[in-house]
Parts: sequence; C-alpha cells; structure tokens
Amino acid sequence: MFEVRFHGRGGQGAVMAAQTLAEAAVNEDNYAVAFPFFGAERRGAPVLAFTRIDAKKIYSKTQVYAPDCVIVLDDSLLDTIDVVSGLKPDGMVIINSKEDPDDIDLGISFRTATVNATSIALEILKAPITNTAILGAFAKATGLITIESLESSIKEKFGGKLGERAGERNALAARMAYEKTIIGTSRGIKKLESKKQWLPAYQDIPIGGALIEGKTQAGLIGPGSFIENKVSGWATFRPLRNKEKCTMCLLCWFYCPEGTIIRISDRGDLMTNYDYCKGCGICANECPVDAIKMTRARS
Ligand code: SF4
Ligand code: SF4
Repeated sequence: MFEVRFHGRGGQGAVMAAQTLAEAAVNEDNYAVAFPFFGAERRGAPVLAFTRIDAKKIYSKTQVYAPDCVIVLDDSLLDTIDVVSGLKPDGMVIINSKEDPDDIDLGISFRTATVNATSIALEILKAPITNTAILGAFAKATGLITIESLESSIKEKFGGKLGERAGERNALAARMAYEKTIIGTSRGIKKLESKKQWLPAYQDIPIGGALIEGKTQAGLIGPGSFIENKVSGWATFRPLRNKEKCTMCLLCWFYCPEGTIIRISDRGDLMTNYDYCKGCGICANECPVDAIKMTRARS
C-alpha cells in the first residue's frame, strides 16, 4: 500500500488533489481511497487530506500516520508544522517551493522534490490554487502514476466540475509542474521542535470558560487569543489601498474576516495590520471603486 498525506491551507485544493490522485490511480487499475481531515477550517488555515493506493482492496479507514509520501502545498507550513512526522525513512517529500530540494531543511534528510507550483498556478490558472500543479510534481517524483493518466483524471474531475476549459488549464498546470520538478535530498540540520498548536484542544479550555481569557500550554485562549495567532504567513497576496480612489465607504473594514483593517477615526483613514492579513482578497472584491489591488506577498 502506498499512503500519501497532503498538507495545505484552506482554499488551496488539498482535498481535490487527494481525490484526483486517487482517481488517477484507479484509472491505472489500482484501488484507491481519498479523504480529508475536517477541523475548523477557514480559508488559509492548515488542512490535511490523505490518499491510499494499493493493488488490493483497501479496508483501512484511519488517517495516514506513517506516509510513504508527504505533499506540502504551501512551504510556509514548514515553519509551523512537522510535515515529515511519521514519514517512512525511504519516503518522499514533495513541496511547493521556489527553493531547490537541497536548500530545504526538514530536520531529517529525505528524498525531496520541489516545484514552484504557486507561480505555475498564477501563470496558468490566474489563481494561487496549487493542487493540480503539485500533482504533476508527484507524478514526476514518484513515478507511481503517469502524467498522461493524471492529465486525463484532472480533465475529467476539474472539467466536470468547473467546465472543459478549466479542466484543460489544470491539466496544463500539472504538465508544466511535471517538467519543472527538481528532485534531490533535503537537509537535516534544524532541530525539530513540537510547535505551539494552532488552536487549543478542548482539554485546554477551562470548563465553562469558552469566553474567559486564559493562558494554556497551547497559548492564549478566549478573547484576545488571536494576538498570538498571526496569519501573515498564510498570505500569497496582500492588499494595497489606493487612498486617492478610496471613498471611505468602509465596506472593506466591514467584510474583512480577520478584522485586520483598522479605522483611524481622528484621521478619517484606514490601516491594514499585515500581521493578521491572510491575503484572502475579500476586501478587494468588495471595494465598489476598485481602490484595493492584491499584490504578491511572497513568490
Ligand atoms: S486580504 Fe483584505 S479581507 Fe483578507 S484578511 Fe487581508 S485585509 Fe482582510
Ligand atoms: S471598500 Fe474601497 S472605497 Fe470603501 S473604504 Fe475600503 S478601500 Fe475605501
């Protein structure tokens, strides 16, 4: 059995990637299953998805704890999550990154493949949805499925859902990533630490204290806890407001899901605290006078 664990962020399409990989494997006469791990996801939050592939029927229903391959759709996750946890010693890591594999430090040396899937997705799909590009890297790095079989699954799945043209564009993203994937070995220098959890588990919350501010091993909980949970690392884009065009209608302030647009009453102005901006682009979409442009936060 070959087991794959996907690490992504809400909105990057990790779940669709897991399903598409399973379908490509089935098209090559394998058995396969794919399923997500549901938490309190929101756009930009870390998410998990899994695919199992085997020549025999698959009965296992658990999450994948000892994968043969780990796929990372966003390299900012490497700073906060031990993505190689449980990875088999001869396992493979595939990362959406502009770095070469040999420049990536995972704390342990693993066979590693990298591709700049974000740039490919932006060029081909005009959106930072990296799921199909990273699957192209998977086909190249593992050889477990052919790129032709993957392209046909992508056209079927994405074409069926988003239209024929979208299917073809996504297949092209996979092909381009396949051609650009670099294979090497990660470095194993940094000391792996268990990081602060993103949110406290239910055991961390004082009984009846959901609304009480408190300090736990997982960090602050309750009102004000977001102070510790900066989301700037999630952002591929960040908003830039054109003050000349802005009419101060405050729609962006109202709709920002992170509450990171701040009203400066005495100056009649707005300010964005980029520490808490996840780059979702909702403010730009809502602005009625097109005063907000989204620009690349990182490549
Ligand atoms: S992109 Fe805009 S709406 Fe989204 S978090 Fe940043 S400021 Fe808020
Ligand atoms: S939505 Fe646009 S016009 Fe309105 S306050 Fe925000 S930037 Fe200004």
